[in-house]
Amino acid sequence: MIKPGTIQSILETSRIEEVIGDFVTLKKRGANYLGLCPFHNEKTPSFSVSPSKGIYKCFGCGKAGNVVNFIIEHEHYSYPEALKYLAKRYGIEVEEEEVTPEMQQELDERESMFAVNTFVAKHLQENLFDTAEGKSIGLSYLKERDFRESTIENFQLGYAVDNWEAYSKNAIENGYKKEILVKTGLSINKDDRLIDRFKGRVIFPIHNLTGKVIGFGGRILSSEKSTAKYINSPESDVYNKSKVLYGIYFARNAIVKQNNCFLVEGYTDVISLFQAGIENVVSSSGTSLTVDQIKLIKRFTPNITILYDGDPAGIKASFRGIDLILEQGMNVKIVLFPEGEDPDSYVRSHRTSEVEEFITKEAVDFIKFKTNLLIDETVGDPAGRATLIKEIVNTIAQIPDGISRSVYIKECSNVMDIPEQTLVNELNKSLRKKYSKPYTPSVEEIPIPEEKQTQARQIEIDPLAITDLENEIIKFILNFGHETIIAENVETGNDEEWIIIEYLIADFNNDQINFENPVYNEILQEYEKAIEKGEPLDISYFINHPSQKVASAVVELLADKEQLSENWKKNKIFVKKAEDNLEDYFASLILPLKSKLIAKELRKIVNKLKLTTDEAEWFILQQQYFELKKIANLIDNKRNRIFNY
Ligand code: ZN
Repeated sequence: MIKPGTIQSILETSRIEEVIGDFVTLKKRGANYLGLCPFHNEKTPSFSVSPSKGIYKCFGCGKAGNVVNFIIEHEHYSYPEALKYLAKRYGIEVEEEEVTPEMQQELDERESMFAVNTFVAKHLQENLFDTAEGKSIGLSYLKERDFRESTIENFQLGYAVDNWEAYSKNAIENGYKKEILVKTGLSINKDDRLIDRFKGRVIFPIHNLTGKVIGFGGRILSSEKSTAKYINSPESDVYNKSKVLYGIYFARNAIVKQNNCFLVEGYTDVISLFQAGIENVVSSSGTSLTVDQIKLIKRFTPNITILYDGDPAGIKASFRGIDLILEQGMNVKIVLFPEGEDPDSYVRSHRTSEVEEFITKEAVDFIKFKTNLLIDETVGDPAGRATLIKEIVNTIAQIPDGISRSVYIKECSNVMDIPEQTLVNELNKSLRKKYSKPYTPSVEEIPIPEEKQTQARQIEIDPLAITDLENEIIKFILNFGHETIIAENVETGNDEEWIIIEYLIADFNNDQINFENPVYNEILQEYEKAIEKGEPLDISYFINHPSQKVASAVVELLADKEQLSENWKKNKIFVKKAEDNLEDYFASLILPLKSKLIAKELRKIVNKLKLTTDEAEWFILQQQYFELKKIANLIDNKRNRIFNY
């Protein structure tokens, strides 16, 4: 491992324009350098390097990053290789950290725990087929549930015989260590006797993402009231209940393929659905859903569909957990099975195509589901209705994306027959409350940069969607792009006369900003080319553009003239007329857009920061964060100066 100190001095010493200059011919242009992108074919340069920010960005293909990313991308190096390349270029000595004996022991211990888990899982699996008790009790139970042998083998199901000293004894005889058996929770040390935690139970091994057995669930089959129906392995160094989902190892490819994850309650629900060919299914196995589990799913898809058996009390109890999913920016749908049925029983009594059809037909968006359920409960109860509004709005407030929030607010206003503005007011209250809480990282979490300010700004500008702003800017450019305004020259710091379109291009290049809408970037590039050639472009050029996408986008923009401003008025956003004051109008579009785009980028980085366990990646992300934050602050200052809001 390269020492963090070395990484830091490599990053501090490397000059991005020099490093990239070794591969790309760069021309100075304003504060930045411009060249032909090495990652895609182009004739006009759209690859920009910013020495002050230490980043590069291609406005053609979108590739962007810092100096290390460039080397990784360009030379196909790994992260450490890229660091070593830079160290060599600048004559920096690379200090590497040795793996200490304690670290080694810890690694060894984890490996030993996996090994003993695997050994015991295999032993329990053999019990199922090779012992009389396993066959008559365990296997017959699984067969009763219609599990095929291939399914039983796939999920490595097993049986622990009704004896205190079975698999533990066997493991010791095979050379596994007592401490390790105890550490995994498989065995309990009782008066110096090693006894089995699981006995007389059908066993469901729990796998991590890479398929290693990290824990076990055991179901008792006798009707003894004194013992729990299910018991699980205790937490250990390799088994962290809140971070694991049952079935994730088997489901992950299907989740990506289907771009959806089914969430069910129990082990057998997972196995039944999987056996029926519905493989994108996991379970939080008894515990209530945690943020870490949601993040695990989010690595594969932003969509979760929760499959419930028809018990309203149970569903209401899970509402809080679902708010957590929404908070992660994920889309949640609910499927309610008919009364008396759960996914497992439904699959067993129906064909797969019927199950799939049922799920597709019954899946309801969670917020709609919750609204309808609560509406039914508050018929003729005004007080209950007020609570209902608060509850629904609080749920909507969990959604990080402003556009989705607006859509839900609109829908709920229809369903509940409440004026949209009432809900918007309630939402703003709720958002303010949510974001005014100080951010307290949990102990496990890597400290992340403060993000409160960005979020506060986000609330203020919320009603202005990025798409709306982008539309309006392009419309403005098409109409007024060749007029002049007085604006700051970033290089000199002086106010100068600019042609609007030239200013926009320079400004975007300087802040490394792109439109979200790719067609609009195309339009901007056309302008850029035209400026270089010294020929002005007029609207008719775009209306008759060879690219159908560009042409129709422009036509659409010019056609819908008033719609946006109406929208803005309704939300009491300042409405300026372009003709009255071009500078102010332009700034009133461009600054909020930049603010929003950067805020979004910052949120992405923060999310990555929360997920990464790689120290080096974390370090780089943190640097990117602070660079962007600087730009965001500059923009905020400008906005305050101009609009005083
Ligand atoms: Zn490119």
